[in-house]
Amino acid sequence: MNLIEISEKFNSDLSCIEFAEKIRWGKKPICPYCGSKNIGARNKDYRWHCKGCDKTFSVTTNTHLHNTRLPLKTWLYAFAVVTDAKKGVSAKQLERNLGIHYETAWTIGHKIRELMIMENKDIELTGLLEMDETYIGGKPRKFNSGDTKGIPSKVVIPELDDRIKELKEVGISFKRGRGNSAKSDLDPKRGRGTNKIPVAGIVQRNGDVIAEVMHGITYADLKRLVNKYVDKDESVMVTDEYKGYNKFNNIIEHIQIDHQRMYSYKGVNTNSIESFWAIVKRGIIGQYHQVSIKHLPNYIAEFVFKYNNRNIDDMFETLVKNSMQSLKTN
Ligand SMILES: [Zn+2]
Repeated sequence: MNLIEISEKFNSDLSCIEFAEKIRWGKKPICPYCGSKNIGARNKDYRWHCKGCDKTFSVTTNTHLHNTRLPLKTWLYAFAVVTDAKKGVSAKQLERNLGIHYETAWTIGHKIRELMIMENKDIELTGLLEMDETYIGGKPRKFNSGDTKGIPSKVVIPELDDRIKELKEVGISFKRGRGNSAKSDLDPKRGRGTNKIPVAGIVQRNGDVIAEVMHGITYADLKRLVNKYVDKDESVMVTDEYKGYNKFNNIIEHIQIDHQRMYSYKGVNTNSIESFWAIVKRGIIGQYHQVSIKHLPNYIAEFVFKYNNRNIDDMFETLVKNSMQSLKTN
C-alpha cells in the first residue's frame, strides 16, 4: 500500500484499530489475559472489557506494540513510509513525514526493524546459491584517511579510540600497529581496516537472501551461516576464492571462482550477492550516514526483509501482522 491508499483507508483512529483487530483476532476479540471470548461492548476509548477476568484490553495489549503511547495510526503510517522506501528511511525522515519527535521516530524505526527480523528467521535457501562477505564502515568519514584531510591528527585519534572501544564491546579484537592504522584480527591478510565490520550473506538465484553481521569470517564462521540457513543436500554454493571457503566441499557442493582470473564461468558467478551488497551500501550511506555497530544487524535485517519481499506488495500487512503477534509473557 502506498501512502495515499493508507491515508484513505486509515482516516480515523477506529479504522486503524479495526484493521489491526481483524489481523490479530479475526472477527471477535479474545481476551489477551485469560483467553476468554466472552467480551463486552467496545468502550469509548476503544478498549474492550473481558467478562471472564474483568480486565480491559486494547488491540495492542500484550503485542509488540504493547505500552506504546502512540496512536495506532502513527504506527500504520510509519509502516507505510518505511515499506514504501526502497533504500530505507532515516529517523529524520520519519520525524518529518509523521510529525513526531526525533526520539520517537528513532524508536519507531528500530521497532520496525525488529518486526522485520521476525520475518527473516524462517528463511531456508535451496538451489543455486551464492555466498560472499563484505565490509560495512561504521563511521567512514571519520576514519578513512582520505576523508580526514585537513583535520589535525589530534582530533582523529580520540575518535579512533572510541571506535576501537565500540568494536571491542561487540567482541571484535585487533591490534593497533605502531605508526600504522589499526588492523583487524579478523582477516589481516585481506588488508581490511578495523573501521569495517564484516557481513556475510547468501543469496538464492531468483530467490531470497540472508545476511548477518559476523564476528569473524573464518571457515567455521561461514559454515555456521550455511548450516543455519541452507538446505545443503539440495544446493550448490558459488563463492569467490577467499580462503574461508576453501573447505566448503566438506559441507556442500561447492564452486569456487577465482576472481583474479574470471568473474563468471558458464553463467556461474556471484553477481546476485554482489548486487545485494550494493543495495545495502547505497542504503546505509544514503539514508543512515552513520550506523553504530550495535545497530548494524538491524539495518542489515531491513535490507534482507526488503530484498526478500521485493516482488510482493504485502510488506505493509506483514509488518502489521508481526506487530500484532502476542508476546509470550505468561
Ligand atoms: Zn479476560
